[in-house]
Amino acid sequence: MRNGEVSYWWRALGGFPPRRPSLPGPTEADVCLVGGGYTGLWTAYYLAGLRPGVRIVVLEAAFAGYGASGRNGGWVTAELPGSRDRYARAAGGAAGVRALEAELRSTVDEVGRVCEAESIACDFVKGGRLSVATTPAQLARLREGLVAIREHGDGEDVYQFLSRDETRERVNVSGALGGLFAPASARVQPAALAAGLAAAAERRGVEIYEATPVAAIEPAASGETGAVARTKFGDVRARSVLRCTEGYTAGLPGLRRALLPMNSHMLVTEPLDSAAWREIGWAGCETLSDEAHAYMYAQRTADGRIALGGRGVPYRFGSAVDHLGMTDQSTVAALTGVLRRLFPAAADAQVSHAWCGVLGVPRDWCASVTYHPASGMGWAGGYTGHGVAAANLAGRTLADLVAGEPSPLTTLPWVGHRGRSWEPEPARWAGVHGLYALYRLADRLESQAPGDTAGDSRVRLGEALGRVGDMISGIPH
Ligand SMILES: Cc1cc2nc3c(=O)[nH]c(=O)nc-3n(C[C@H](O)[C@H](O)[C@H](O)COP(=O)(O)OP(=O)(O)OC[C@H]3O[C@@H](n4cnc5c(N)ncnc54)[C@H](O)[C@@H]3O)c2cc1C
Repeated sequence: MRNGEVSYWWRALGGFPPRRPSLPGPTEADVCLVGGGYTGLWTAYYLAGLRPGVRIVVLEAAFAGYGASGRNGGWVTAELPGSRDRYARAAGGAAGVRALEAELRSTVDEVGRVCEAESIACDFVKGGRLSVATTPAQLARLREGLVAIREHGDGEDVYQFLSRDETRERVNVSGALGGLFAPASARVQPAALAAGLAAAAERRGVEIYEATPVAAIEPAASGETGAVARTKFGDVRARSVLRCTEGYTAGLPGLRRALLPMNSHMLVTEPLDSAAWREIGWAGCETLSDEAHAYMYAQRTADGRIALGGRGVPYRFGSAVDHLGMTDQSTVAALTGVLRRLFPAAADAQVSHAWCGVLGVPRDWCASVTYHPASGMGWAGGYTGHGVAAANLAGRTLADLVAGEPSPLTTLPWVGHRGRSWEPEPARWAGVHGLYALYRLADRLESQAPGDTAGDSRVRLGEALGRVGDMISGIPH
């Protein structure tokens, strides 16, 4: 089994991409984007379309798509990154939240449209999203969630309840009791999307400099306009400097407690044979998850594998990040167990690659797109694991904000959203590890066979612990 090497997705493309040059020296630009993941690249792409001829420079510490954008589960999902109630506190209220959700749903099509227009071959298939309940407690949670969804005003066009048989007809997940289907979701090969997007931005005149870590982002000296990104090769001075570093943000000065770098781990099987695929189904390439507290997410890849991810070791002390996506054996064993349990037909398939990465989690679990025209500084991120579509919408929004073009996007409730900082260490580490220990225990208790008094009370205890976890963390469900 390969471990790390950033991700299987890059290996499937033949290894790391040819390296672009580093920043040649001190540079003046109109707009400087720090970070060459989806957020930085989409922002650059749209801004270059809105304002042809402006000088847009992307500074990337490693290579475009090195971070979460080249490692993720490939779900282009319309899931709201955060809690409806919290976003509803913004000026737009509940209508603003509905507008944000509608924009996220149309973003799935926008990603598909650009892939088509720019010939980005990233296996985009809009097959919807299927969340499967595999225990009675998960099914009860799923039904409760559906009641809240209907109260919120979302109908069958947004979420559909699927019976046990309807669920298994789509994907034959062992033990599935029912499911929730959302049409607005697509599957992609994430690194292919990142690579194709970087090339599309370059075709619009964007300059991407790699192996160029930014040491600090600062306002310009008094009397000068804009802001400065400092690198060992020289400073980039620009009217706008935008931080697009999501899970890596804690590495920048003064931002240690801004976004928590949450780990997510993935593995991919070798290609399954046709008998296994006949048994599993999954012909629609739905993005797939379960309703566990420590949930799994998966996709059927274009090359006939199952790629499956989950939390594993959730967080490294002091907001440290992984080395090239190397993941620990206990997490690989746990995810392999989930794979074998949910897909007995893949029981003999070898795991061919495992890796991990970091995504950015704000303390209130709500993402933000922020720009201050006076200082020229801004940022976007904190998508809490739903960043593939959200980064496109954030990129279009940042582009409008920087171009000074008021639009329906620039008033969405995540624009200018501010959350509080994470707790200092060791409270941060203890809190996150304690929370996921609680969730794992809740999942174990919920999966006990009900039917007798002892079993029933264990399941109820599991449900209660899960709710306590949600209350402590503020994780929205
Ligand atoms: C394993 C995993 C699975 C996931 N699965 C999904 C999924 O299926 N669906 C979904 O919607 N979301 C998923 N996510 C989250 C999603 O991938 C991210 O939210 C999204 O890619 C964030 O994009 P970004 O550009 O903001 O950040 P990143 O892609 O992380 O890019 C940030 C870039 O900034 C660079 N950088 C960092 N510091 C500096 C610096 N000082 N100077 C210059 N450059 C710097 C990094 O090298 C990196 O390339 C997953 C994340 C992970 C890790």
